[in-house]
Amino acid sequence: MARRKKIYEGKAKTLYEGPEPGTIVQYFKDDATAFNAEKKDVIEGKGVLNNLLSEHFMVGLGAVGVPTHFIKRLNMREQLVRSCEIIPLEVIVRNYAAGSMTKRLGIEEGTAMPRPIVEYCYKDDKLGDPLVTEEHIAAFGWASQQDMDDIIALALRVNDFLSGLMYGVGIRLIDFKIEIGRVFDGDFQRLVVADEISPDSCRLWDIETGQKLDKDVFRRDLGSLTDAYTEVANRLGVMPKQSTPMTKPTLIN
Ligand code: 5GP
Repeated sequence: MARRKKIYEGKAKTLYEGPEPGTIVQYFKDDATAFNAEKKDVIEGKGVLNNLLSEHFMVGLGAVGVPTHFIKRLNMREQLVRSCEIIPLEVIVRNYAAGSMTKRLGIEEGTAMPRPIVEYCYKDDKLGDPLVTEEHIAAFGWASQQDMDDIIALALRVNDFLSGLMYGVGIRLIDFKIEIGRVFDGDFQRLVVADEISPDSCRLWDIETGQKLDKDVFRRDLGSLTDAYTEVANRLGVMPKQSTPMTKPTLIN
């Protein structure tokens, strides 16, 4: 029986105190939400797939020198990560037009961007994560100019890495969202890629057929989300031979 303290419960993950100071356990739930939680469902196995995929991406990023909060995967639903102070921004990189950009600017879905475009949304569910500019970020003190330079550099490195990885398995990386955390080493602060990277937070289209292999399948009722994520996991070779979804841990507060 697990004996640990819940720190935070989000829409797709629950965070528990880790076994050592400065660590956190991320538990990946099966809950799927869209449109600021107006649409909800439980998709069996989604948490397992996102845990494995996020591990794969974070380990790969680490291997090419992009710092992340990831320490190790603990089991099929949980990973151990470094605790960090999350900057309250969703950092979005777009290679092709989709989603809110098509609505906001009237650009046809799938149009290639002249270069990767980095956008920021202020993380606030009540406000629906509104788009903000670097002016807002600086004026409201969410991140310094130095942080912003580092954030853009990190976001573009993640984009290069993920685009290449996906291209290798016949998938086009349309866009994605990452979150950035601050970790403190003594007096020094470092920025790391935090939260998760998974088909919940990316748009992934099959290069040949254009088939959507990401959370748009759920948002737009395009079929089985588990099948789409399993396809991504299979192509990347991260599917376990036998995946037994773990039941929820018992909480003792
Ligand atoms: P859009 O702004 O077009 O809705 O989203 C752009 C990209 O960021 C998409 O890949 C989308 O999945 C991701 N994204 C935007 N907001 C969120 C969010 O609140 N949670 C997650 N998981 N991904 C998001």
